[in-house]
Amino acid sequence: SRKEKETRSRPSIIDLPLPPTLPGGDSSPLHLASHQGLSLTLPALKKRPKICCPRYGERKHTKSDWGKRCVDKFDIIGIIGEGTYGQVYKAKDKDTGELVALKKVRLDNEKEGFPITAIREIKILRQLKHCSVVNMKEIVTDKQDALDFKKDKGAFYLVFEYMDHDLMGLLESGMVQFSHEHIRSFMRQLMEGLDYCHKNNFLHRDIKCSNILLNNRGNQKLSSFLMTMSTSLFSTIDSRPYTNKVITLWYRPPELLLGEERYSPAIDVWSCGCILGELFTKKPIFQANQELLQLELISRLCGSPCPAAWPDVIKLPLFNTMKPKKQYRRRLREEFAFLPTSALDLLDQMLTLDPSRRCTSEGALNSDFLCDVDPNNMPPPESVDLDSYLSVESRLTCWRSSWATS
Ligand code: ADP
Ligand code: MG
Repeated sequence: SRKEKETRSRPSIIDLPLPPTLPGGDSSPLHLASHQGLSLTLPALKKRPKICCPRYGERKHTKSDWGKRCVDKFDIIGIIGEGTYGQVYKAKDKDTGELVALKKVRLDNEKEGFPITAIREIKILRQLKHCSVVNMKEIVTDKQDALDFKKDKGAFYLVFEYMDHDLMGLLESGMVQFSHEHIRSFMRQLMEGLDYCHKNNFLHRDIKCSNILLNNRGNQKLSSFLMTMSTSLFSTIDSRPYTNKVITLWYRPPELLLGEERYSPAIDVWSCGCILGELFTKKPIFQANQELLQLELISRLCGSPCPAAWPDVIKLPLFNTMKPKKQYRRRLREEFAFLPTSALDLLDQMLTLDPSRRCTSEGALNSDFLCDVDPNNMPPPESVDLDSYLSVESRLTCWRSSWATS
């Protein structure tokens, strides 16, 4: 057909000229990206990089290599969010009618070409496949013809399945009341997604409500893998420190605030503990605007970090400099006494100061609160709007900590 002929005659990325060859050229900068099977290694500069494709077995969905389709395959419906490297749009696939989220990667401000942070995120996303982790379907460009990239820099879009809400928006709207069953289902799905990441040696490092997406069927997915790191890259001999400038302050665990640079998956469990508390109170439970105050708020609820509760804390670089004003005892069980016992037990375990004693994502899944939850077996129905799907009755009085206003 004519359409087919057109697509065949259009030059694709493969047809673009290669960069000039340097004498004795080595591809060192790109070796960085070669871990974990990402097809970006250039054994010699003359050789063309392999195009990064969908995961094995997923090709049938797109029938095309990533980056070959153009964004005008989609009708843009509107802007739904702001990401680190550009807007996020809601759009509809013109062929299938399917709703998607397009995350724009702008290239116009980039001196170095495709941003390395976006490459990292794509590399990680294509290794993740789980029903509680957002699925990247493909990558499209804003150019009909790859040769147009020579004229201006343009943009790429990461295409995701569309999710109706993010948890931050839902909680901030104040319109929804989560029932006990919904909280269990959301936490179950969150911990399943996280357990999957941890079992595959990924630390998410930015768990917070705006990175947890939900659809109107009650499915919840972990998203936003910009900060994610793979720990399998680092052998035990390798003692390079990890950066501790990760995780949005309100969800940051005490070991990071105290300068820990060899942290574990327990950092993500802490963030999820903060979210569990927040699902009940509908407000972030530790809202400080700087690091010392953040540790202070944590200490008031969880007790001051001390060797009795956390033997290794004295080894942390900032233990002596980040001293809270006074010694606090742990008051978590009193402050959250209004939670059902099984939820309170889990919150207590997830918000344990000592990361080595904090429960793991697997431990959380096996807890009394989560062990028998079946998210597929949630109350009602398909295609009912989440706002009416979540019960509006029995408004919990919002928990206010004695210090939130002080
Ligand atoms: P960044 O990694 O730069 O923080 P995100 O992936 O978190 O970007 O996207 C920013 C916002 O866009 C999210 O908080 C969410 O509101 C919205 N968003 C992202 N992905 C989707 C999606 N698949 N469906 C619906 N909204 C999304
Ligand atoms: Mg985000």
